[in-house]
Amino acid sequence: MKTELIPTYTIRDISEGFEYNALEGKGLYGLAGKLTIQPEYQRNYIYADGKRDVAVIMSLLKGYPLGLFYFNKPTKDTLEVLDGQQRITSFGRFITDKFAIKDENGMEQYFSGLAKDKQEIVLNSTILVYECEGTETEIKEWFKTINTAGIPLNDQELLNAVYSGPFTTKGRAEFSNSQNANVAKWGAYVNGAVIRQDYWERALEWVSKGKGNIAGYMSMHRYDDNIREVKEYFNNVIDWASSLFKDVEKEMSGLEWGRLYETYHSKKYDLNELNADVQALYGDGYVKNRRGIWEYLLGGKSDMNLLDVRVFDEPTKKATYVRQTKEATRTGTSNCSLCREGHQSSKTKIWRIDEMDADHVTPWSKKGSTSPENCQMLCKTHNRAKGNR
Ligand SMILES: [Zn+2]
Repeated sequence: MKTELIPTYTIRDISEGFEYNALEGKGLYGLAGKLTIQPEYQRNYIYADGKRDVAVIMSLLKGYPLGLFYFNKPTKDTLEVLDGQQRITSFGRFITDKFAIKDENGMEQYFSGLAKDKQEIVLNSTILVYECEGTETEIKEWFKTINTAGIPLNDQELLNAVYSGPFTTKGRAEFSNSQNANVAKWGAYVNGAVIRQDYWERALEWVSKGKGNIAGYMSMHRYDDNIREVKEYFNNVIDWASSLFKDVEKEMSGLEWGRLYETYHSKKYDLNELNADVQALYGDGYVKNRRGIWEYLLGGKSDMNLLDVRVFDEPTKKATYVRQTKEATRTGTSNCSLCREGHQSSKTKIWRIDEMDADHVTPWSKKGSTSPENCQMLCKTHNRAKGNR
């Protein structure tokens, strides 16, 4: 790969013909159309937060350097930004009055309202650009190793870079576009940030049956001109979840809906019962892990570990142990109520407290509470055999 340092670009040069696409939230072109600011493998513009974008402008006004920029030279007459897209989009947006900075008196100032000498300072600032020429593979390999203005690319952003092409472009237009009207609905099931590729990543993870399969899937479909399969699968998962569960609770966002769909979508459920169960568990103070409620119900209420139900505390266990042991000594029977009813030698065995576990007399699943009145101590063998807390 060949690189050449070009020291003479001014902000005026780069910003000439600057276009910003508000709908997709990205800078498009500069250098009078010669420079593509956001090639398809680049991340979306994320500096528009009134802090990082403003910091770029304040640096220019103070004469601080903006750091190095890297442009790729795909053809003799075109350039694309490899590194520096966030900074370029920031000053491009400022010069076209898309956001304001605060002046020394704390007043908001747009570029067109700045004093002429300040405007000139901004426009005449120069930036240091490395122009690189290399094969697509070289450029992308190299791109993987650099940080974009201090924010490392996340996994999916890297995959987008490595597998750029029509498939990734279409996927991002659908799943990385915060203007997509479906995002609000999807957000009930998917968490993370649309523009950091979290939704696109989920869609790929679900259709490829696991995060570890995304790279392979993207490679196989790289030159597809559509994302039909991804979209269809994603919608199937969302539609399935929303058809089963009437109430949308915040804990549902970010669950592994793809895996749940794969495991349970052919199972039939009584919707009234299912939704009543969700409500009951959601309001149950003994359920410590609410995020486990949906999978617990989908799985037929068999895996109590998902709910992390509150257990008896030590003082309750100790008091119950003392009470049962006293009674057992008096009557010459075992202090485990199930051993006592048996016919083995343990019929009269007095267990130590560390050989016993607390158990719900009325099981928690049958509305038995985790209170002292509903506590009994069983020997470990019997408690395990009973299985239901
Ligand atoms: Zn026992």
